[in-house]
Amino acid sequence: MDEAAPVIDTSKMNEGQRAALELTEAARETSKARTFAAGLFMGEFNLDGLRPFPEQSTETRDQGDAFLQRLEKILREKTNPDEIDATGEIPQPVMDELARLGAFGIKISPEYGGLGLSQTNYCRAAMLLGSWCGNLTALISAHQSIGVPQPLILFGTDAQKKKFLPRVARGEISAFALTENGVGSDPAAMITHAEPTSDGKHFILNGEKLWCTNGTKAGVIAVMAKTPPKESKGKKKDQITAFIVEMDSPGVEVIHRCRFMGLKALYNGVIRFTNVLVPRENI
Ligand SMILES: Cc1cc2nc3c(=O)[nH]c(=O)nc-3n(C[C@H](O)[C@H](O)[C@H](O)COP(=O)(O)OP(=O)(O)OC[C@H]3O[C@@H](n4cnc5c(N)ncnc54)[C@H](O)[C@@H]3O)c2cc1C
Repeated sequence: MDEAAPVIDTSKMNEGQRAALELTEAARETSKARTFAAGLFMGEFNLDGLRPFPEQSTETRDQGDAFLQRLEKILREKTNPDEIDATGEIPQPVMDELARLGAFGIKISPEYGGLGLSQTNYCRAAMLLGSWCGNLTALISAHQSIGVPQPLILFGTDAQKKKFLPRVARGEISAFALTENGVGSDPAAMITHAEPTSDGKHFILNGEKLWCTNGTKAGVIAVMAKTPPKESKGKKKDQITAFIVEMDSPGVEVIHRCRFMGLKALYNGVIRFTNVLVPRENI
């Protein structure tokens, strides 16, 4: 099949449905060598990407083992998962201990104060955490899987890396804000928006985000917002932009802590942004 051809006929859709689909299609993987999972969506069962199974080198496995031993010692000796879930709170000394170990900067390069471990070692740490305490797993993994560290590692400017990575590696908690009331799987319907100021130096952010894991404890948060449409091939295209937002900025409010059955110590919140001034360099 021609990769460029639309997979779904959008001609009979309403404007909102078409916009949502076009946004999703624009993000579609374009590489010819599809990942195994992407292939499944296209009806392919191609095991080439999975074999031979990528084993760790001795060096990276040893690095991971050393970290996991220290992490396991803290979990066993300093944390009580039943108490954390029963009280709905993670004690601050536990957070401090994990921060001293480097558990908030597992994949961040040592240049920025992190441990510089591999993705596989990060996954091994998540497995160990998950076998012990779901609440700690959510804290640590939301911080560095969807929070500020990973997008900066992948796409951040040098200035952003220098400014934010040392903070989050040291244990300043980060969060991620995409979902809104009625906007979960369908980000094209997003209401939160950010308009540039007349001098172009800032954006003014307005909206309300739902279910932000770590949001009630975060110092910094990645926020998705609609920004003015851009022209592409003669058509105006809606834009969604990711901003790094300081939680102590004027106009940022945690208005509710959401509680989840089975993850009672999740620091998950509804966060409102009212005329929050975000510097352009935080895109
Ligand atoms: C514990 C927890 C933590 C979370 N943390 C965060 C966070 O940190 N930051 C954040 O932004 N969000 C967070 N979320 C929100 C989460 O990302 C959303 O719940 C998720 O995107 C789904 O959105 P929704 O709940 O609105 O469900 P909906 O979008 O309403 O979907 C409901 C069901 O319908 C299905 N569905 C939807 N559209 C289609 C379609 N077109 N075709 C077929 N099936 C469809 C879905 O698969 C799903 O089964 C969290 C949620 C939970 C439960």
